[in-house]
Amino acid sequence: MPRQFFVGGNFKMNPATRDAKVALAKTLNDATLDDSVEVVIAPPSIYLIPLQEVLRKDVKVSAQNCYFKTSGAFTGEISPSMLADSRIPYVILGHSERRTLFHETSVDVAQKTRAAIDAGLSVILCVGETLAQREAGETAKVVQEQLDPVIAALKPQEWSKIVIAYEPVWAIGTGKVATSAQAQEAHADIRTYLSSNVSSEVAESTRIIYGGSVTASNCKELSQQPDVDGFLVGGASLKPEFVNIINAKQ
Ligand code: PEP
Repeated sequence: MPRQFFVGGNFKMNPATRDAKVALAKTLNDATLDDSVEVVIAPPSIYLIPLQEVLRKDVKVSAQNCYFKTSGAFTGEISPSMLADSRIPYVILGHSERRTLFHETSVDVAQKTRAAIDAGLSVILCVGETLAQREAGETAKVVQEQLDPVIAALKPQEWSKIVIAYEPVWAIGTGKVATSAQAQEAHADIRTYLSSNVSSEVAESTRIIYGGSVTASNCKELSQQPDVDGFLVGGASLKPEFVNIINAKQ
């Protein structure tokens, strides 16, 4: 079965006001979107429910993070079951900003992924190398090491709930997009790794999306790569051009 193209918008801690977020939702509501694409937007958690209420029903929402415990004395955290209880279908885990600024390890990310799957959520699982790691020829090794604890934590059939976002750290928010060849190579390597370490079925069916300075002007070429199954978009998801990115395949 062909993999459904997936476009996610990661708003990060933007934009500053509720009204600005509602305006973004309105842009999506009014747009003609390719109905073969799964579209998910990830606003800051306080805006998940209000945005879900105003958004068209074919656009889903995602949290940007969650904790791995169900409840308890964990001030400031949100649990996967609370997201599920609020009918939030997706959560982004392992974003490079979480790994770098909040010191999340790949083991933490795997633990959160396990908990999210147990709660019935789907996960946008982010992996990717720094510039120094790429220049040292370590891209595949770094990504594999990020995937290993998740592979150990999941049963093969649970991979249907995972979308892998390959996001080279040097491309996130920098305006320096990976070339189509670089993205294709990294995605194909991830697929080969899943084939050897999970199963060929999981490798074939898991969506691997690209993130890092995707814009309306570079999305078409990237979308034509055989192993690029969509995008995770940061900055450009806050602009009207997000619609063009959703419609990249048209
Ligand atoms: C991101 O934050 O996941 C991202 C890809 O950001 P940007 O598109 O701004 O590089």
